[in-house]
Amino acid sequence: MQSNATIRGTIIKGIIDIIEKRFGRDGVKQLMENLTPAEQTFLVEYLKNDSRVPAETLCNLYNRIKELWGEGQKTYYSELMQEIAEQNINTFLKFLISWGLPSIVANSVPNIYKYYFNQGQVFMVSNTNRSIEFYIKGGEAYGEALCAGIIGWGRQGLAMAGAKNVQVDHTNCIYHGKERCYFKVHWE
Ligand SMILES: [Zn+2]
Repeated sequence: MQSNATIRGTIIKGIIDIIEKRFGRDGVKQLMENLTPAEQTFLVEYLKNDSRVPAETLCNLYNRIKELWGEGQKTYYSELMQEIAEQNINTFLKFLISWGLPSIVANSVPNIYKYYFNQGQVFMVSNTNRSIEFYIKGGEAYGEALCAGIIGWGRQGLAMAGAKNVQVDHTNCIYHGKERCYFKVHWE
């Protein structure tokens, strides 16, 4: 069963870069071992062109990272995503933080999502200058990597726009028996 869900290659490239920075070439080798040979060759091609990568590859990398370094937790991956966000925001999403208004980043979540993921959608439930609540529908192809990614990325994006003490509550998650992935974020 092939899904057509993809993710922008810049995220995958970011993951590999950070693993290399932290664990060297051996770390990257360990990370890649679990991918099928076809996926490995394929990946090199996308990364050269920053094209879109199948959601399945993201899920594989996420599971492997958890296995190797995450001690079964998604926090490690969220931290990685924070670093990736920093790189990404500093380059082509720089305008988002340039006004120093966290709410601009928060209100852009549906568009940022669309930029990176071609499947699923963000539905805003409420937003103030200090908080947002939203849920995601149809992002299942990305697995829990999506939730951990949103948490890390969101934290970093808001902090870079000047938010202090960013708190993300994602207890309401489909991977933990809930009906949908619901995020409550607030900051100072
Ligand atoms: Zn979730």
